[in-house]
Amino acid sequence: MHHFAVNRQGKLCCEEYPLEEIARQMGTPVYVYSHATLERHFKVFDEAFSSIPHIVCYSMKANSNGSVVRTFARLGSGADIVSGGELARAIAAGVSPKKIVYSGVGKSVPEIEEALRRGILMFNVESREELERINVIARRMRKRAPISIRVNPDVDPKTHPYISTGLKKNKFGINIRQAVEDYEWAARQPGLEVVGVDCHIGSQLTELSPFVDAAKRVRRLVDKLLAKGMPIRYVDIGGGLGIRYNDESPPSPKEYAKVVASVFQGLDITLILEPGRVLVANAGALVAEVLYTKKASPDSGKKERWFFIVDAAMNDLARPAMYGSYHAILPVGKAPARRVTADVVGPICESSDFLAKDRVLPLFKAGDLLAVMGAGAYGFSMSSNYNSRPRAAEVMVSGNRCEVVRERETIRDIFRKERVASFIKGSGVKR
Ligand SMILES: *Cc1c(COP(=O)(O)O)cnc(C)c1O
Repeated sequence: MHHFAVNRQGKLCCEEYPLEEIARQMGTPVYVYSHATLERHFKVFDEAFSSIPHIVCYSMKANSNGSVVRTFARLGSGADIVSGGELARAIAAGVSPKKIVYSGVGKSVPEIEEALRRGILMFNVESREELERINVIARRMRKRAPISIRVNPDVDPKTHPYISTGLKKNKFGINIRQAVEDYEWAARQPGLEVVGVDCHIGSQLTELSPFVDAAKRVRRLVDKLLAKGMPIRYVDIGGGLGIRYNDESPPSPKEYAKVVASVFQGLDITLILEPGRVLVANAGALVAEVLYTKKASPDSGKKERWFFIVDAAMNDLARPAMYGSYHAILPVGKAPARRVTADVVGPICESSDFLAKDRVLPLFKAGDLLAVMGAGAYGFSMSSNYNSRPRAAEVMVSGNRCEVVRERETIRDIFRKERVASFIKGSGVKR
């Protein structure tokens, strides 16, 4: 469910605001987020877990724009962070540190110190060495660091290999069989306070069974730890619930919540959820303008094929290039009736620079606008300046209002931080 739809005049709108209007005011490429969709998704997800004490910790890496995070924070969301940058953003957006969980395999010393200073809910620790380091830092700061161990339950999430994280061969977490030993070690350290168990098995999961398998393995571990007298108060089962990009039929938050909550029935714990994609993906679209069209040189006997070259590229939306992901392409204005098979590609000098491949699309012409749907998650947050392209603007719509939530970068922004080495001839020459 989202708030992008064609209005009576045949124009694609975000809530009540025509995307054409946004493109005219802001230029393209531009990310457009629907505030109503964000709110709706958060509420539906949160309410699905109402039968059990829980905290929804929005996984910020999906979309860390301050207005997006603040929208969730105002509804009571916590944050799942993976860096010091995300910690600063979460706090700036009004997330309570008491609702921040810190994930990731490579937390640095300054990052750990800052999280301790802020008093976050817990560190989701991914290795024995990280446990040791957090212990040393916490002792030096005369604090006790609340920790859970991210266990790797070795279940196959049946998703794209690059976004599965819960298999033995993945770099994430500590093997669930070895975790008891590490928990026992952690419980003896003066700088550590064992508070929880954590797992996250992957992203864009479209079936329930991997979640259930992982949850059951985590439950067994929790029972074991409780029996050893460890005060486990939080069980964090990560994120990963998938969305419909094309023809997937992922479980609803309700179905997901039902099976997960039932596994932890009877335990005196607070469940922590780390949804990312499911909250934001369908709340965003990337609007681009067609720069050129051209016919592909025909393979013998094959039907004609087109390239639509647009002003958005893999630096703006990396998912198709990285994972071969599908994003629906919709015309923003009135679409030409003739349909052709086409690739939607960007201006970047890589053959992987495509936004859509082999699609039946209206025969767009230069100057037409199109919307790349489902771009709210892992869109802008993964964007880069590759090919020295300034990053796109981001806007948020609420009803008939539309405001910039991140300005388009300028070309000046791209090399502002660079210096010319003094030993290069002519370095004194002013640019
Ligand atoms: C990426 C990530 C999430 C969110 O995953 P989604 O598929 O976007 O829900 C949650 N937890 C951790 C530890 C992650 O790395």
